[in-house]
Amino acid sequence: MATETMVKPVTEYEVVIGLEIHAELLTDAKVWCGCSTKFGAEPNTQVCPVCMGLPGTLPVLNREAVAYAIKAGLALNCSIAPEARFDRKHYFYPDLPKAYQITQNDHPLCRRGYVEFELGGETRRVGIHHIHLEEEAGKLMHAGDRLMEAEYSLIDYNRAGIPLIEIVTEPDIRSPEEARVFLENLKSILEYTRVSDCRMEQGSLRVDANISLRPKGSTKFGNKAEIKNLNSFRAVQRALEYEVRRQTEILQRGEEVAAETRHWDETKGVTVAMRTKDEEDDYRYSPEPDIPPFEVDPAWVERLRAQLPELPREKQQRFVEQYELPAYDAGVLTADAKVADFFEACVAAYGKPKIVSNWLMGEFLRLLREDGAEVQDVPLTPEGLAELLTLVDRGVISGSIGKEVFEDMFRTGKSAAAIVKERGLEQISDEGELAAVVDQVIAENEDAAAKVRAGEMKTIGFLVGQVMQKTRGKANPKLVNELLRARLVQE
Ligand code: ADP
Ligand code: ZN
Ligand code: MG
Repeated sequence: MATETMVKPVTEYEVVIGLEIHAELLTDAKVWCGCSTKFGAEPNTQVCPVCMGLPGTLPVLNREAVAYAIKAGLALNCSIAPEARFDRKHYFYPDLPKAYQITQNDHPLCRRGYVEFELGGETRRVGIHHIHLEEEAGKLMHAGDRLMEAEYSLIDYNRAGIPLIEIVTEPDIRSPEEARVFLENLKSILEYTRVSDCRMEQGSLRVDANISLRPKGSTKFGNKAEIKNLNSFRAVQRALEYEVRRQTEILQRGEEVAAETRHWDETKGVTVAMRTKDEEDDYRYSPEPDIPPFEVDPAWVERLRAQLPELPREKQQRFVEQYELPAYDAGVLTADAKVADFFEACVAAYGKPKIVSNWLMGEFLRLLREDGAEVQDVPLTPEGLAELLTLVDRGVISGSIGKEVFEDMFRTGKSAAAIVKERGLEQISDEGELAAVVDQVIAENEDAAAKVRAGEMKTIGFLVGQVMQKTRGKANPKLVNELLRARLVQE
């Protein structure tokens, strides 16, 4: 027999991913009481008997929270239920004062939506299975930071009762990269709609990722792993990439993937089994008797729809048409509504959208990232940028000096003219002054000068560079070029 028959056929697998996203809503008050939702207060200073779950208290539904959840649903193309109903989900954990969470089990407020976005030159659509409204639990802090070794834990109930939406996608995502890009688009939409501030580092946005593999062409889903503890979009992508490798190996060995919950270990870069599906708690869901079903008036839904802002994809399309920007630029500039507003104000002050786009996509976004800053914290104004770009246009400063000035403006808010004056950065366009430097450079670089005289024109760039160095970037490069040619090239 030929040995080839022993080689196992390599099966190709399709990746199937569905995400569950928790987003805290930006209402001023909690969902069942009037306590503040503001982040960062001293522990247990924003609590009352209701959100502490004391016996005898009654929750009262905050309409504002329903409005926010509906807005999220509309922005994600969902249909809105005619009635909001709530259920109790029972489990025992110290962060949950009532020992049950009020949530929506089988009557979610929003259903059947979708998000559309571009990936690899293709328009992708990921379905939203449903969105439901529920309450946050409190926050546990373990002494020494590690749960298992902690001698005691502290509980902060400030977070308990903050309204939360859970967005559950269909299993429509087909790669770890697509999961990240989907999340970036979703975050943009929620921020635009001002439904949530989506601060993953503060815990106001949290993601669980479900992933399974199946042989290409199969229509049946495989067993999935659910990954918890993902604290950035990068972590989501990395954890899913790890799972693709892990599950592929299991399937190629002819074994079955366990249906289980896994924990992402960020430092080790691996997922670890936490519990299997059949070890899962029975939540004993039951209808919430203290909150009567809440009727959702269709006229109210329409008023909320009318309040929706222009959404990221619409804005991107408008930027392409109105400002004649490449789709790529428009996508980058509209990812954050505040950057998009800043761009429009700059164009209003200066014109030339593509030039503004280059400065914002390059310098502005780079400095925002470097400083971990938000647009509203930056002292640079659109009028300030317009003034700077005008100085570059008029040749008062060179483009590269302009970048230095930009950085200073970004951090200090000083005017471009003041910085240029203070630091003596005006471009040198005085022929006499430059001629002296040019002569000096020729004297110091006889070899290079000889090459240019002999017709090797590419060496002239080297000499221009020497002049720029001596003038700390301030020489007018066009003029330097002319002066060098006049001295070295016989016409
Ligand atoms: P569970 O029964 O574990 O709660 P659900 O059907 O409620 O699962 O789905 C939870 C999430 O998991 C959804 O985002 C869904 O899209 C996703 N999901 C469901 N089945 C799979 C699968 N086989 N592979 C990947 N993701 C899945
Ligand atoms: Zn309260
Ligand atoms: Mg489920």
